[in-house]
Amino acid sequence: MAEVSLSLLDDEAAASSEDWKFQLRHSVRSTAELSRKLVLSDEERTGSERAEAEGFPIAITPYYLSLADPNDPSCPIRRQVVPRAQEAVEVPGDLRDPLGEVAHEVAPELVQRYPDRALLLVSDRCAVYCRFCTRSRMVGQGGGPRSLERLDGAFRYLEAHPELKDVIISGGDPLAMGTERLVELVARVRRIPSVETIRLATRVPVVLPQRLQPELLAALRPFHPLWVMTHFNHPKELSERARRGLEALADAGFPVMNQSVLLRSVNDDSRVLAELFRGLVRSRARPYYLLQTDPVRGSGHLRTPLSTGIRIMEELQGRLSGIALPKFIVDTPGGMGKVPVGPEWVVHRGDGVTRFRTPRGVEVDYVDPPA
Ligand code: SF4
Repeated sequence: MAEVSLSLLDDEAAASSEDWKFQLRHSVRSTAELSRKLVLSDEERTGSERAEAEGFPIAITPYYLSLADPNDPSCPIRRQVVPRAQEAVEVPGDLRDPLGEVAHEVAPELVQRYPDRALLLVSDRCAVYCRFCTRSRMVGQGGGPRSLERLDGAFRYLEAHPELKDVIISGGDPLAMGTERLVELVARVRRIPSVETIRLATRVPVVLPQRLQPELLAALRPFHPLWVMTHFNHPKELSERARRGLEALADAGFPVMNQSVLLRSVNDDSRVLAELFRGLVRSRARPYYLLQTDPVRGSGHLRTPLSTGIRIMEELQGRLSGIALPKFIVDTPGGMGKVPVGPEWVVHRGDGVTRFRTPRGVEVDYVDPPA
């Protein structure tokens, strides 16, 4: 295999461009472009050709691609965004819509799976297409940002259901939309008196931090409380540029919560995750969830058994401060809700006495107060 290098001047200029629209325009979207930037393995070449032909598209910003090792297909950045031949392999448990979002659609583009919150799908476009995406059935399929008219039924449903206090704006990626469109949308949701919290679910801080310019943050600020839910999965993603983006969000008053997806041969190692979680906390982002990868069709090669996540949580408990330690979550198939999972610390529950094993490896009794 011939070595390729990303040090070509035009690649460097594109990767460091602060113009987010330029980054999107110059994203890599084909096997031919990928093979000019990376030495593709046979698996990647076959997977990319298939992705181009069959639907779940490729998109990688020059910035994000610059974090990848051009010569190593096992690079954790590449495993997240470069398609592989195994995407064609179905494994037991695979589902097209693992969270049952279609079945839980209560109005056009509005999904309700819990009594107090709802998910508003505002676009099918993302800055990158992650190969493990739960919504691979619909993202990148055309249509782009949804108009306010198309979302009108969703707004009216939210108005008619004041018990819905928390709206998660997702897609696709809402921050891949133009500022004017995004602000219009957030303002419309904010006008619903019963909505208390709005969350923006986005991978932009990871893959396109150039989008987090003062102009965008100033335009969104009037609509606080606005939370940002993002997905850093590996410490390589916490570049100096990404850290500046996270700090800009925190300075502008956006609480940032991180939901890492547990991915085979990307981050299924407690040392890797400890480094990631500590780095996030240093940048004022809270490691909130470690998510078991949803069983979405085509992601079998990226999923780990549940026991891997439980072992990792056991290794991290007591080693990481509570503010750096996320919950390990399984979002149960069919949209039946999230369940926290973890190691078992209770050895025995007796009458008024509970015996624990601790992360230090000792057993300790806790005695209840008298009834
Ligand atoms: S950015 Fe989010 S919605 Fe878009 S492909 Fe990645 S995981 Fe899916």
